[in-house]
Amino acid sequence: MYGLTAEDRRIRDTAHDFVETLIPYEVEAELAGGMLPKELTAEHQARAIELGLHATNIPTSAGGAGCSALQQVLVQEQTGRVTNGLAWVMHTPPQWWVDVASQYQRERWLLPTVRGEKHEAYAITEEFAGSDVSALQTTARREGDEYVIDGTKWHVTSFNLSDYVFVQARLDGGDYAGEHVLLVVDLPWPGVEVVRTPHYSHHIADEHPIVSFTGVRVPVSHLVGAEGEGMTFTQDWFRFERVMVAARCVGAAQRLVDEMTAFAQTRVIDGRPLGEYQLVAGMLADSATELFAARTMLYEVARSIDAGVDRKALHGQASMAKLYCSEMAGRVADRAVQIFGGRGYMRENVAERMFRELRVERIWEGASELQRIIVARQLMTRGPSALLNPG
Ligand SMILES: Cc1cc2nc3c(=O)[nH]c(=O)nc-3n(C[C@H](O)[C@H](O)[C@H](O)COP(=O)(O)OP(=O)(O)OC[C@H]3O[C@@H](n4cnc5c(N)ncnc54)[C@H](O)[C@@H]3O)c2cc1C
Repeated sequence: MYGLTAEDRRIRDTAHDFVETLIPYEVEAELAGGMLPKELTAEHQARAIELGLHATNIPTSAGGAGCSALQQVLVQEQTGRVTNGLAWVMHTPPQWWVDVASQYQRERWLLPTVRGEKHEAYAITEEFAGSDVSALQTTARREGDEYVIDGTKWHVTSFNLSDYVFVQARLDGGDYAGEHVLLVVDLPWPGVEVVRTPHYSHHIADEHPIVSFTGVRVPVSHLVGAEGEGMTFTQDWFRFERVMVAARCVGAAQRLVDEMTAFAQTRVIDGRPLGEYQLVAGMLADSATELFAARTMLYEVARSIDAGVDRKALHGQASMAKLYCSEMAGRVADRAVQIFGGRGYMRENVAERMFRELRVERIWEGASELQRIIVARQLMTRGPSALLNPG
């Protein structure tokens, strides 16, 4: 099915079996605000590394698993089957960094991250710069051999668990004034402070605090790439992450289809299984059909990446995959809650957790509206066939 090779299936099945060992901890994590005992999480992470499920997106030359895009998708699809971020231990470090990291950056951050010894966070979004990243106000100004960073970032995912953070800032002065840079800041670091840690709809161990950077000084060796290139890396990350969001959404929908079908088979109302009632049968059929369409599309996009299809076309296709798969998963989660009825509103039920957790997939890494804009803009500027049939 789907033309997967024996190796593709092996990797997928390894991830599937690993994820099956995480699922039993979901409710415990949910009721504890996303936290499992530290030793248990460490054990899960060690197991993910041992199984080759960590850093699947990093080439072997940098110590990663060197998986194809399709194989990365197969692994992330399994990640999406688990709630409460428990499968985030199948972590994908910043793959865009491999080609541009200096030797110093490689040794200090990249390789330890690929080995699972360090963890990173991204500080890009601000209170008034989210969808419009270009509007960000955080500044970086060069002073001798240092950059000085000032600004406040929002939703900095995993900040509480990270050893360093990428900060995107606007250059204040110099040849590239007004353009963006990406700087690495070790954590903790003087001048970096958590303003507050808001609570979000999901319950996971990774927090998303608001973080202020006040006169934060980092050596110029912490600059990723060159001045003015900050946006390029963020675009690369978005393109990659949008496909992985799509993959996790497909996995989540698969879990929900499995669970709601099982419920519809066993819950008997007036002598008949729930799934035989046509209104419920329709919800099941629509969910399975949309899931099938989403997965087929996702794998095709992954194959296009592996085939080295034109970068612009891939950017548009990644948006289409993210848009369709995240919205599909949202619809499936809504139907799953409905089919489970009152049970579907209980936090111990997977549909309830997915219903909340999947909502953000339509917002982060570019809201659905932004994905639609990207797709429509490509149609208008390059024509439909460049996007839909790039060859
Ligand atoms: C849980 C969580 C974790 C996150 N983690 C990180 C992180 O680690 N690092 C980081 O930097 N950021 C992170 N983000 C930020 C995330 O990427 C942004 O929330 C997202 O890009 C949307 O930006 P915004 O929230 O500022 O919404 P806004 O830009 O204020 O937009 C609000 C809404 O307006 C609509 N909209 C916006 N622009 C347009 C348009 N041009 N046309 C039509 N409609 C439009 C969309 O519906 C959008 O949802 C995270 C967010 C969340 C919720």
